[in-house]
Parts: sequence; C-alpha cells; structure tokens
Amino acid sequence: MTNSDPYASLGVRRRINAAGALTRLGGAVMAPEVVEAMAAASRASVDIGELQDAASRRIAEATGAEAGLVTTGAAAALTLAAAASIARWDVARMAALPHVAADILLPRTHRTGYAHALAASGARLVDIGHNDRGTGAGVRGLEAWEIEAALSPSVVAVGFSANATSIVDLPTVATVCRANGVPLIVDAAAQLPPKENLRRFIAMGADLVTFSGGKALGGPQASGILAGRRDLVASALLQQLDMDVSPQTWTPPELIDRANLRGVPHHGIGRGFKAGKEEIVGLLTALDRFVKADDGADNARLEARLKAIAAELGGHQLTLVPASVTGRVPVLEIAVPDALALSAHLQRGDPPVHLSERHSARGVLTIDPQVLLPGDDAVLTRALRMALP
Ligand SMILES: *Cc1c(COP(=O)(O)O)cnc(C)c1O
Repeated sequence: MTNSDPYASLGVRRRINAAGALTRLGGAVMAPEVVEAMAAASRASVDIGELQDAASRRIAEATGAEAGLVTTGAAAALTLAAAASIARWDVARMAALPHVAADILLPRTHRTGYAHALAASGARLVDIGHNDRGTGAGVRGLEAWEIEAALSPSVVAVGFSANATSIVDLPTVATVCRANGVPLIVDAAAQLPPKENLRRFIAMGADLVTFSGGKALGGPQASGILAGRRDLVASALLQQLDMDVSPQTWTPPELIDRANLRGVPHHGIGRGFKAGKEEIVGLLTALDRFVKADDGADNARLEARLKAIAAELGGHQLTLVPASVTGRVPVLEIAVPDALALSAHLQRGDPPVHLSERHSARGVLTIDPQVLLPGDDAVLTRALRMALP
C-alpha cells in the first residue's frame, strides 16, 4: 500500500464530494495540522483517562459546559449520554446495562434515525407530543404539559434533536427538565457551523450536548464530543474507559470522584466506543482550529467558488443560498425535473460525483461545498454540464 494514495492501491475510487461531510463519504477532510497532530500522538504512550481530563478542560472552554469527553462520534455520544443518565454513579446499574428499566422521553418531532443510539443504552424510548408543525397540520410545537404528563420515576432523560425549527421549543423543555431533575440530552451533531452553536445549547439549559467531530469540525471521522454536566460526563467516561484495572493501583481520571463509587466497575456499555489517543488529540486540534477560524472569510471564499461554478453552468435554474440563510455554509441549489435520477446518474459517473439530496423531495439537488476540495471544482462543473438536461 502506498502512502501517497492508499485508496488507489486498494482499488477504491476517489469521489467528488459536493454533498457535505457525510459519514458514508468519509466525513470531513482533515487539515494537515490535524493529521500531523494525530501522527505525533501515535508515537507515545499516555494514560487515556488523563488525556480525557485534558480534553474535558478544552471542551469545557470551547462550549461553556462544566466538562466534556471525546467519543467516537455523535451517535456514540448519544449512547453514552443515555447510559450516564441511567446509571449516574451506580456501578451496579453500569454493570446491568443494557438490561435495566429506564425510559427516555422523545418528542415525536425529534425521532430521527439516530434515536437508535439512545435506545442502544437499554432505555425504552417513549414518544411524546404532537407533530403539527412537521406535518403542516397546525402551528403548535411541544408544550410543557406534554412533557410533565409523561414524567414518572422510570424516566431518566429527555432527548432533543436540535435544528433551526426545533430550537424554539428548547427553553420550554429545559425548564421542565430542570424543575424535575431530569437530564436533557441534545443531539446537535450537525449543528456546526456556526461556531456560536458550540455554546448555544448548553447556554439554553441542555445537560448534555453531542457534536460530530468528523463533520464540520474537521476532526477525525470517527470522533465526536459529549459536553455538559460534570457528573454525567464523568459517568459517561467511566462507562467508556478500559476498566481492566487493579482496584489497588487504579488512578481514576480527575473527572471521576472515587468517593461517589461503591466499587470499581468493569468494562461498561461504552467500551466498544473507545476513543484512541490519536482521535482525542486530532479532535482537540480540529476544535481549536474551528474556534479560531474566520467564518466570514471562509464563507466568502466558498461563495466565490459557487458563483464561478454557477457561471459555468449558466442557463439552468440555479439559486445561490448564502450562509446567512442556510445558517451554516453557502450552497448552490439546482432545480431539476427528477433530482434523484440525476443524483444516481452522477454517482455512477467517472469519477463519481455526489450532490446533496437533502432537498430532492422538492426537485432540488444541492452543491454543498463544505468538504469539496478546491481542485475538484472543475471536474464537478464538467460532470454537471454533461449530465444536466
Ligand atoms: C451525523 C449525525 C449523527 C451521528 O454523528 P456521528 O458523529 O457520525 O456519530 C447524529 N445525529 C445527527 C442529527 C446527525 O446529523
């Protein structure tokens, strides 16, 4: 296998990615600084607990949360968040997972495919509320009484999937959760950029928030963040760590106050989600770059590239949607008669080209430039000119 192109030596084709930092296309493309940090991290031994303590301080700084943990993705962070809400400091409950009686309330408008990650903890998901807005049947969102009516001693958490539409309901949910001592878990996996969102959900009262490391953050694909309340993050860490330790010699991470534990737990439900030293260092390096980046300048650059692509494609129904409207990066929308047929055609091309199918239901394919390599613009344009009707 050659270093210069491992994919070619495996017979795997490179793809033109104008679909965004999708997991199935390998997520983000990492900056050289992140790659170098990961390579350097791989050359020494460290205590993973001590490294996660350091990560916690960095994540706390970036998010405004009390603590944070590097996970193997936002989905893993959701499972760990649920496990932490169920077990807290109870090592017997940690040992019993996923076989415990515990409920997580999930508003009907928030049941995404990622709900499976919450359920993987062993919790039962209980649907609450209505979906008037989503179905267009009405104007009402989630209401406090709908959550309160579903509360019972077996409820360990409330799940919330953050997006531009659902966010208006977050203060209501946070108030009810706070008043009843029930942790609020917010899935904000893909809510970056803008970077302000790193702090937003914690500031609004979330107890735990998850972000993907391998999407806009530009970290390792198999990385993510769990940020939030110190005791819950500590429980998540404990259930993720390698616990093949001698109780006599075990030095727990600072996050974990041993006085809260009645014994030393075995490998927890999160053991399969171990974050390696390379992922932890890579994620932190990417997080630092993300926080320091000039979003305005980056978006202006992306917009200029999209305008150049649009000029080449002239004659078709194109709409440049600026970052101020998408809430993240600018995109170029292409209205076509059959969006999915065109998408399938482009994916079968040489090289394969991927556009976002996010708005295919309304006859639109979207050029999302988030991880589109500048050197790929010309190939993308050529493929589109040949494929467009
Ligand atoms: C991508 C995504 C996830 C999963 O994130 P990973 O980092 O790939 O595990 C979870 N929830 C939502 C809403 C997402 O978009």
